[in-house]
Amino acid sequence: MILTINCGSSSLKYRLFSKDLDKVIASGLIARIGEEGAYCEHQAHERRAQLHQPIPDQDAAFDIMADNLMHSEFAVIENPREISAIGHRAVHGGDVFVESTLVTESVMEQLNSCIRFAPLHNPANIAGIEECQKKFPGIPNVVVFDTAFHQTMPPEAHIYALPYDLYERHGVRRYGFHGTSCRYVAQAAADMLNRPVEDLSMVVCHLGNGVTIDAVKGGKSVDTSLGFGTFCGISMGTRAGDFDPAIIFHLVKELGMSIEEVEAICYKKSGLLGVSGVSNDMREVEQRAAEGDKRCALALEIFVYHIRKMIGSYAAAMNGLDALVFTAGIGENSATVRSKVCAGLGVLGVHIDEGINEIVRDGHPNISAADARVATLVVPTDEERMIAIDTVALVH
Ligand code: AMP
Repeated sequence: MILTINCGSSSLKYRLFSKDLDKVIASGLIARIGEEGAYCEHQAHERRAQLHQPIPDQDAAFDIMADNLMHSEFAVIENPREISAIGHRAVHGGDVFVESTLVTESVMEQLNSCIRFAPLHNPANIAGIEECQKKFPGIPNVVVFDTAFHQTMPPEAHIYALPYDLYERHGVRRYGFHGTSCRYVAQAAADMLNRPVEDLSMVVCHLGNGVTIDAVKGGKSVDTSLGFGTFCGISMGTRAGDFDPAIIFHLVKELGMSIEEVEAICYKKSGLLGVSGVSNDMREVEQRAAEGDKRCALALEIFVYHIRKMIGSYAAAMNGLDALVFTAGIGENSATVRSKVCAGLGVLGVHIDEGINEIVRDGHPNISAADARVATLVVPTDEERMIAIDTVALVH
């Protein structure tokens, strides 16, 4: 069996797959670790349990996960040895990791050297690997990076026009994120179209709380909307997306804000929440916009306008577009966002069937109209499965 681990600073998500990955045997979420209201949800064999209990730290969370997996009530595994490998999600692999890798001592050292790029996320990812090494000794660990897929971007796409020294000596460049999702979805879209991914130019729109628009040519990421950090590109739930960096100097020098206050604005107080003044949740923003709330309508328009512009620029960067793919919470579920993004992309050959767009959840991944030159698809993402696929490939 293959276990996947997605370890955040206050959460632990796990999934146990059968050896050939055709079944999810168990899955769970342990949330609010080290906080008030900590809880654990565990599901196996159609049985679900939720338990509220104090969970002081990651160590306790991994104990709970191991207990859940070995609990006789759920009959998942009797012995940790039944797990043949563990795959971990890591947010940042810098430019050291261009693909998933088996964990060794030197990989752990290099992972530690990437903490400077993702100080909030990488320490939790590393702690997850160390917990597994401790609790499941002898079982190989694999690490899968959100940044790795984007390492194929050409220099003109990943190097900023800043002093070159910042790039060379300090690693200041575009890294991109959500690579595991984009890679999975690009391959799945090619499979749905029955065409080799190597023959396709596509734009993947990963629209969730975080947003990545990714240009994928021949199965490789050639440009992506997130950059050195995770607030540029498209406006998101609480993150700003692209804006003129001169505003940062203005906020600090003229309005007397501290750099921490500006950082909070960029990451936590902007995007859907900042413009609407109501919510970072697209469902609520859409509903209020439909009821006539002008600021919610504006937040929605800014969101779709950013996406439409990015798709246009990536079609130009790839000199063509064969497929447009929507995924993640908003991409998979919001017919309104898909419709608004695609309206105005007729110039590229994008034309969706509005009727099919509405019922896509009933199993119609291809929402293109009959006369469309570009295939528009809705493809559910599955980062855990991608991690499990890489883990199997590396371990066997
Ligand atoms: P994710 O980060 O992929 O879990 O996506 C979270 C985002 O998906 C949130 O902004 C949700 O509001 C949004 N979302 C989930 N379901 C829907 C829906 N039916 N319509 C619009 N947005 C949705």
